[in-house]
Amino acid sequence: MTSLTSSKRLVVKIGSSILVDEAKGRIRRDWLDALTDDVARLHKQGCEVVLVSSGAIRLGRTHLKLASGPLKLEESQAAAATGQIQLAHAYQAALARHGITVAQVLLTLDDSEQRRRYLNARQTMATLLGLGAVPVINENDTVATDEIRFGDNDRLGARVAEMISADTLVLLSDIDGLYTGDPRTDSSARYIPEIREITSEIEAMAGAAASNLSNGGMVTKLIAGRIALAAGCRMAIADGRQVGALGALIDGTTRCSWFLPEGSPLSARKKWIKGSLTSAGTLVVDDGAVRALSKGKSLLPAGVTGIDGEFKRGDVVDVKDRTGRLLARGLVAYAVEDARRIAGRKSAEIEKLLGFRGRDEMVHRDDLVVE
Ligand code: GLU
Repeated sequence: MTSLTSSKRLVVKIGSSILVDEAKGRIRRDWLDALTDDVARLHKQGCEVVLVSSGAIRLGRTHLKLASGPLKLEESQAAAATGQIQLAHAYQAALARHGITVAQVLLTLDDSEQRRRYLNARQTMATLLGLGAVPVINENDTVATDEIRFGDNDRLGARVAEMISADTLVLLSDIDGLYTGDPRTDSSARYIPEIREITSEIEAMAGAAASNLSNGGMVTKLIAGRIALAAGCRMAIADGRQVGALGALIDGTTRCSWFLPEGSPLSARKKWIKGSLTSAGTLVVDDGAVRALSKGKSLLPAGVTGIDGEFKRGDVVDVKDRTGRLLARGLVAYAVEDARRIAGRKSAEIEKLLGFRGRDEMVHRDDLVVE
């Protein structure tokens, strides 16, 4: 059965309607505390977590005492500017209870479409994750105008998952998954627990099963699904309304609709590594590492004797033996300057050498494809 526990890098998208108490227009503190307890639990198990949270506009609206009804663009931008501070502060306080640092990242559509900005955002997030922080992401609503907006955080979440090569994306929503129709009005609507391909038939169903309460209905969730699957990332749509909803997903005590890429997320990731045309650098390894790699083990810094190229954390690198024979390709866990500092050294020395506790492996076996 598909489960969250195998995830190493998880993006959780939190919809406005579940985080914010609709009547009061304020954050549901008990809900947020439970969510962050579950994030801390995942963190302890070695899973990196990124939160994509909506709610800025809804919170700002309360704070600015804007009248009900649809907001003008400039009003929602003003609301977002006010609400985002409250949002960031609430996450910071909730995660601080577990000693976890929060980092705010506000993105615009351009940040995911223009290569230089994309790489920049990706690098920042990789650095934050390497430092053990939990990035809390939202659209930069204050500056994004209509034509250049994501507009919904389902797609933003999927872009973020793609950007950081997450293996799992969870959309916490006000509905527990995908149905053949709208279960609120159509009693014959069937639940779909597993989707392997987003066909036009499924798209037609989504149109009928719109979830009205949140900004992103089922249609945007399917677009998110397309982006995630193409990136080899599995995606779940789950009902996030209950306090402890993420925990229930981790424990497998609640259902959700899974969108699954071909093969396991791991094999999709490996396929992607294998298929990448260029590598950003080369790690030369000693004979001990050659033997370890042939047994399916990770590449440790101790086995690295030479480094070439200019690479950042998460880039694809070649792994070669002393004679220059290509042994493997993988996603390197350190940027070139850090990799040079820890090459040939024991993993236990990493913290002392770099000033932060990074991964024990130079290239983890999950990120390695042996030739
Ligand atoms: N970025 C918007 C906000 O924080 C929400 C967009 C969405 O709900 O998908 O208010």
